[in-house]
Amino acid sequence: MRLSFNSDSQRKHLPPVPADYHSHTPLCRHAEGTAQAYVDAALRAGVSEFGISDHAPQIPEPFDDWRMLERELPEYFAWIERARAHADGRLAIRAGLECDWLPGCEPWINQLSARHEWDYLIGSIHYLPDEVLGIWDFDNPKWLGRWAAQDVERLWTNYWNAYAAMATSGLFDILGHPDLVKKFGFFPTGDLERFYEPVIDAVAASGCVIELNTAGWHKPCAQCYPAPRFLQLACSAGIPLVLSSDAHAPDQVGRDFAQAISVARAAGYRETVLFDKHQRRAEKLPEN
Ligand code: ZN
Ligand code: FE
Ligand code: FE
Ligand code: ZN
Repeated sequence: MRLSFNSDSQRKHLPPVPADYHSHTPLCRHAEGTAQAYVDAALRAGVSEFGISDHAPQIPEPFDDWRMLERELPEYFAWIERARAHADGRLAIRAGLECDWLPGCEPWINQLSARHEWDYLIGSIHYLPDEVLGIWDFDNPKWLGRWAAQDVERLWTNYWNAYAAMATSGLFDILGHPDLVKKFGFFPTGDLERFYEPVIDAVAASGCVIELNTAGWHKPCAQCYPAPRFLQLACSAGIPLVLSSDAHAPDQVGRDFAQAISVARAAGYRETVLFDKHQRRAEKLPEN
């Protein structure tokens, strides 16, 4: 079935859209859709490449209920192969993983890295230390009620310290959703640049790419990740960029990319990065 031929030809007069490098699969237990449906959606959205980067397995298992298990990695590889077969040369399909940055995770990330010929690994922070819980996945909607009782200043400090350490680890090609800690709309008082500046120095020194993740526009914070000011500082520091939707359903592929292009251009960006087996190429950011 090659139903998207029509949408391909209908798109010909439209400007190119950057690659979307952050998407999920049902293996993570909170995403939906088939590999074929994601590829069809990527073709309709007109993205230049489509990257699959589901939540990586994490030991000790079961670690939580929102990721694939280690023994499911072969199913993940099969998903990527189905996407490639369905794309059939019409669209480059990139293989990635969204890995969790956790204390002491380095050997595990190195193991995961050796398990496949990845195009890129994304490092994300979804967990922070917690006195009661040990660690907590602060962005999980199940904890929304817990946020009101938190010391937001301290959480932000912990988050950004961890983010800088993740960048410095050198384990990842791309750093995910830079200011995810704002997801539920809890912001410290005062100028946020005091958090941004040290981490931008660390990211710039690491050579990592950051993502402009459009999912934040659909969360309580109602902002893209990272905030435009962060992006501006990142661009000035020479940090490269990819765009990502963080799609957990096919209809989210390439979501809000027109708005993301505007935000990236306003921050000073004129290109994004393409990955092929960890090798980078530049892609011109379209005008819109
Ligand atoms: Zn997810
Ligand atoms: Fe994430
Ligand atoms: Fe994600
Ligand atoms: Zn994500």
